[in-house]
Amino acid sequence: MKTATRLERIPPYLFAEIDRKRDEAISRGVDIINMGVGDPDRPTPEHVVRAMHRAIDDSSTHNYPPYKGTKAYREAAAAWFERRFGVGGWNPDTEVVSSIGSKEAIHNTFLAFVDPGDLTLIPDPAYPVYRTATIFAGGEPHTMPLLAERGFLPDLAAIPEQVAQRAKLIWINYPNNPTGGVATLEFFEELVHFAKRHDILVCHDHAYSEMAYDGYKPPSIFQVPGAREVAIEFLSCSKAYNMTGWRVGFVIGCPTGIQGLGQVKTNVDSGVFKAIQHAAVAAFETSEADLQALMAVYQNRRNIIVDGLRSLGWPLEAPRATLYVWAPIPKNYQSSAEFVTALLDKCGIIVPPGNGYGANGEGFFRIALTVPDARMREAIGRMEAAGIRFASL
Ligand SMILES: *Cc1c(COP(=O)(O)O)cnc(C)c1O
Repeated sequence: MKTATRLERIPPYLFAEIDRKRDEAISRGVDIINMGVGDPDRPTPEHVVRAMHRAIDDSSTHNYPPYKGTKAYREAAAAWFERRFGVGGWNPDTEVVSSIGSKEAIHNTFLAFVDPGDLTLIPDPAYPVYRTATIFAGGEPHTMPLLAERGFLPDLAAIPEQVAQRAKLIWINYPNNPTGGVATLEFFEELVHFAKRHDILVCHDHAYSEMAYDGYKPPSIFQVPGAREVAIEFLSCSKAYNMTGWRVGFVIGCPTGIQGLGQVKTNVDSGVFKAIQHAAVAAFETSEADLQALMAVYQNRRNIIVDGLRSLGWPLEAPRATLYVWAPIPKNYQSSAEFVTALLDKCGIIVPPGNGYGANGEGFFRIALTVPDARMREAIGRMEAAGIRFASL
């Protein structure tokens, strides 16, 4: 029996070798500090869990949900969006659809819009799903480098005209995984013009919309004029509310985008468990004070890592958002893979190499702020003890 050729076209899993080394270290009894995964370590807020308990005891939640999400859920999502970004007037029937977490909706958006031979414009480094979903759909990814000197924003002027002509989708993600970069409204404006000129759907993966520090509030693309005709935005409860296991989010934006995605979903899945939709509505009602308390945990961890790396010689700006610190590898290492292997071997620390997110991530590594403060301090202490510094003294 042979699997489909499309599986052979999926790029090799770059973390496989590191995973193997991790398992080997664990079996040797090494005390591993795993800062590799963007999966919050803290529990879902209590008011959300309580809402789930109530909803699951109500048998009206037990049958098939509506494909697009319940009307109450889509209305609550649109109302949250308006409170949060000051952009309202959404039609919950044509401009909002529930998602089983963003990952599902991201993948299915490619199936809805990409024909064999079409191009997609995707950032590099990036969340890997944009590339793999392009390949699943039979399209070809065209990468847009995200460089530190441009604030990790793609250079739209550098996209060749014939590439733009053939592109169906352009993907962006701000606040950005893995770089921690944030977008400006000027960039969003330029992007909307670009998309209109070339008849491209803008897909904004907003998985970190609430994960920001020092008082910064990440904007929505819908805060700029014209975006509602060319863009859709992917919001998720996963990261901000410690709900990665619950699988719930929503997509909001132009009716063509929502309709296409909805048509794929209707034929692929059967929606989000209604009890979980109730719980997500409770998450949308999280008070600003409670959200700030959740974010204070990560802000504090970010400070520990940034201060710690600076004390070891790293030139580093503190990221204003996301769950990650994206840092260059020390000068005496040749590659990201070499450095993260040394971190594992010498310090028992697991972090992914930057090139796992794309060729432009080479020379970087990513630290996820998903372990407790004491373990982060321990990690910095182990690096210091092992003599790991940004530049050798
Ligand atoms: C975590 C993550 C997602 C997926 O989130 P889910 O809603 O849990 O599927 C999507 N995009 C980016 C950039 C992420 O980091």
